[in-house]
Amino acid sequence: MSGLVIIGASYAGVQAALSAREAVYDEPVTVVADEHSLPYQRPPLSKDFLLDETSEHNLILRDDAFFASKRIDLLLGRRVIEIDRTARQVALADGGRLDFDKLVIATGSRARRISIPGAEPDGVCYLRSVADAIDLKARLGQANEIVIVGGGFIGLEVASSAAKLGKNVTVIEAASRLLERAVSPIVSRFLLDAHAQAGVDVRLGDIVIAMTGDAGRIAGVDLGSGVRLRADLVVVGIGGIANDELASAAGLKCSNGIVVDQHGRTGASDIYAAGDCASHYSRFAEGWIRLESVQHAQDQARAVGLAIADKHEPYDSVPRFWSDQYDLKLQIVGHSGRSDQMVTRGSIEESSYSVFHYRQGRLVAVDSINRPGDQMAARRLIAAGISPTPGQAADSSFDIKSLLKAIDKAVA
Ligand SMILES: Cc1cc2nc3c(=O)[nH]c(=O)nc-3n(C[C@H](O)[C@H](O)[C@H](O)COP(=O)(O)OP(=O)(O)OC[C@H]3O[C@@H](n4cnc5c(N)ncnc54)[C@H](O)[C@@H]3O)c2cc1C
Repeated sequence: MSGLVIIGASYAGVQAALSAREAVYDEPVTVVADEHSLPYQRPPLSKDFLLDETSEHNLILRDDAFFASKRIDLLLGRRVIEIDRTARQVALADGGRLDFDKLVIATGSRARRISIPGAEPDGVCYLRSVADAIDLKARLGQANEIVIVGGGFIGLEVASSAAKLGKNVTVIEAASRLLERAVSPIVSRFLLDAHAQAGVDVRLGDIVIAMTGDAGRIAGVDLGSGVRLRADLVVVGIGGIANDELASAAGLKCSNGIVVDQHGRTGASDIYAAGDCASHYSRFAEGWIRLESVQHAQDQARAVGLAIADKHEPYDSVPRFWSDQYDLKLQIVGHSGRSDQMVTRGSIEESSYSVFHYRQGRLVAVDSINRPGDQMAARRLIAAGISPTPGQAADSSFDIKSLLKAIDKAVA
């Protein structure tokens, strides 16, 4: 039995299978997953799940009956160890082999490990999977002094959850501001203040250079600044690495992810990739990017599923991301790298504002705190290449949605 084989059963893998089926791809579809649980949501792992506000069961994206109804075979707990392009087969760690006519690589990304001298003591955690989250939640219950290495999204979300649980939390961030590559300095400053108000000690411009253990358990961390901090739990959130080794070993082009075109096609015929493991050219970033976001994984995988069913719709979504910390919903749309002008709309004091980023007068990105309406409008504006003037964006009484009327009329 051949047909479509998909490696990885998370947002990208599942979406590629569903989109292929919806586009009336009628051959067998098999999704191979090395994790044992049914496909689940990852974003709550650093948020509600740590706070016990949602259960493992509630994380499940789709159940067995759903996959059966779509004639999608889910092979859980099976790891692909090789792609044999000549034989058109994938080899599994348990010795099995699967034939494929078409293959999707949706292997995602993994947490970057910290490189420190000596072995990592017990109590140094990473957060990527539900198994990691179950372990971290149990450890959080016992710990009091928590050091988080990395002031990126995962680090800050875990900091927020741990602070809500009443823990003493310190965040160590090497850069001079939080989320430096993702948001404006205004939002970085705002989040720094929010964490400080919650009692989190954020140390910018510092790095962890060593970890100290006591009988094999974490006892503290040494910082580049010479400070030694006590810690009974360390959470490392220093970014993700694409799981592109299978593709690269099969001779597919990889450069910070598996290189794909707008339909998720790799250079090899009938082999596609989507989600965190893929790198694509984005007109919004004016360059090659690898995104780690749910919307990206799903939108790109949809283009892949359609291409597999010979219904080609290029992937051209504006990059989007969200993060929840305390009662703040941070949303980002577009790509702000190299923006040369920023204006603020709304009220920073009332924790409801957006920062509009421009490059040479063109709107390229918007970061918002608790302003979903701005995000919805900005997404459509950026996609259509329509820019409010900076003056219009800064004026809350100006209805930026009114600029979309031209597109709405054209569609009608
Ligand atoms: C804690 C956390 C919080 C997050 N919060 C947000 C958020 O708030 N907003 C947002 O947009 N995004 C968030 N993300 C990012 C988002 O979850 C990812 O972008 C998304 O999961 C990517 O989906 P994917 O299908 O590409 O890859 P993944 O979700 O990484 O899934 C890939 C799957 O493939 C499996 N796999 C890998 N290799 C093999 C193999 N050889 N054989 C079989 N299976 C294999 C992996 O085990 C995994 O199950 C968060 C991520 C984490 C970890």
